[in-house]
Amino acid sequence: MTHHAVTPPPPRPPELAAAHSVSAVVNAAVARARDAQPLWAERPSSERAAVIRRFHDVLYRRRHEVAGIVTRENGKTLTDALVADVLVTLDFANWTAAHAPRFLASRWRRVAGLLFLRKRVRIERKPIGVIGIIAPWNYPFFLPTTCVLPALACGNAVVLKPSEFTPESAGVLESLFREAGLPDGVLQVIQGDGAMGAALVRGGVDKVVFTGSAATGRRIAIACAEQLIPCALELGGSDAAIVLADADLRHAADGITWARFANAGQTCVSPKRVYVEAAAFDGFVAAAARAVAELHVGRGEDAESEVGPMIHAAAVAVLNAQRDDALERGARVVATAPHPAAGTRGPFFPPTILTDVDESMRVLREETFGPLMPIVRVKDAEEAIARANASEFGLSASVWTRDRARGLAVARRLEAGTVMLNDATAVVGMPSVPYGGVKTSGLGRMHGEAGLEEFVQSTPIVDDRIATLHQPWWFRYGAAHYRGIEDYGRFAHAPSLVERLRGLPGVIRLLLTKKGSR
Ligand code: NAD
Repeated sequence: MTHHAVTPPPPRPPELAAAHSVSAVVNAAVARARDAQPLWAERPSSERAAVIRRFHDVLYRRRHEVAGIVTRENGKTLTDALVADVLVTLDFANWTAAHAPRFLASRWRRVAGLLFLRKRVRIERKPIGVIGIIAPWNYPFFLPTTCVLPALACGNAVVLKPSEFTPESAGVLESLFREAGLPDGVLQVIQGDGAMGAALVRGGVDKVVFTGSAATGRRIAIACAEQLIPCALELGGSDAAIVLADADLRHAADGITWARFANAGQTCVSPKRVYVEAAAFDGFVAAAARAVAELHVGRGEDAESEVGPMIHAAAVAVLNAQRDDALERGARVVATAPHPAAGTRGPFFPPTILTDVDESMRVLREETFGPLMPIVRVKDAEEAIARANASEFGLSASVWTRDRARGLAVARRLEAGTVMLNDATAVVGMPSVPYGGVKTSGLGRMHGEAGLEEFVQSTPIVDDRIATLHQPWWFRYGAAHYRGIEDYGRFAHAPSLVERLRGLPGVIRLLLTKKGSR
């Protein structure tokens, strides 16, 4: 036997080889998921919920390990990692385990409309199949997990592609779920960059759930449209915070600075434009400046740190360019946080407050994804609402006031997926509250019952209570039948009661006619 007998294949160009291995990874994962999904779906929803409950317990036990991975990969403070990535996810696991079985249970219900008096319906909520989930790096454990939980609870299999910047934060999910007893193949994590994500979108999945930037979301929506598969998109935001003149300014400044600067400002749902009524402007700016000057910036691992470094130097460079654009057009820096201790290395951007900003500047037109907060003076609430709504984004918004009725009136007029009164950002951590964006901020809803709805195909099954009786709309057309139909129209829709009652005998005849009789 000689090796020389076989002609070796010509070497592949490197990019083709890479593309080949990317699609091989996707194909293998989707095929395994496809194999595993039917058995998972056949299990009673209570058994799937039990796996999620065990996942909760495993995650609680391993919470510090997971928070540590998130801090190491992402740079965020240990407090942010423990609260926003781990503890909130525990709440979602509990909520999903408790509510999904009830949501999935179907029972017979009445069907509205006189014509359908004999009918009853049950809505079967079937899994969609294999869900491709693509996640970003900013809440690298919370975001993928809170999509995975409802997907699994509803009987789907999942192939998850986390961000290339935080592979382990989502990679650990496989180990947590394995320990919780999830069958092999039902959840797989595939690692890679945008090319892997793009391959997954075209890899034969039944739905794509994407969280990330609007630019990538648009590409994914196009790819899904070409294949006619559904997608849910949680995209970027430039949330407005509206501070009304009667607000408790200290409270508003503390809340808005937390929501803007926590996670080093890299939060999708975060007040990125602050509009303050003129009468409160100076007071609010002073209170916010004081809050920023007291921030503790440092390494994520230090328990004292309130704001850590950003994800990477390229993100700092984008934020620098957005700030410099504002400064060149006349904006002013009114406060920055103290620098981290000497010798602390990392891609830091000092939390910064800008005033004298207007819509010619990138900071009000684009999403700023880091610790930069522009504050805008407005004449009144009307101007604040108009300027808040004049954005391509519509993820969330907040209104700060002591007057609840006025706050609610303003909130109702904001073009945003969610609105909070006297708080911001936290809505995304509430498992029962539907969450998502309008305009460029997304399509579809996560969380709450609306979120579960994204992971099922709802199939109404309609039954007839008297299966042997002819249906009034079936063929037996003729003059008598026509009169019966007329009577039905009169009885159901005529404006006066007397006229409606005149139709009653005809309706009874119509509804009770036996098969074929005329
Ligand atoms: P991104 O769009 O660059 O990347 C997100 C994910 O998509 C990553 O896993 C990436 O590898 C993948 N990807 C990149 N190109 C792809 C392609 N062509 N096809 C398929 N997948 C592709 O976003 P990011 O920088 O990781 O995250 C920050 C952005 O996410 C911000 O805009 C932020 O507002 C947004 N975000 C939104 C929410 C929300 O709930 N609405 C939550 C968190 C983050």
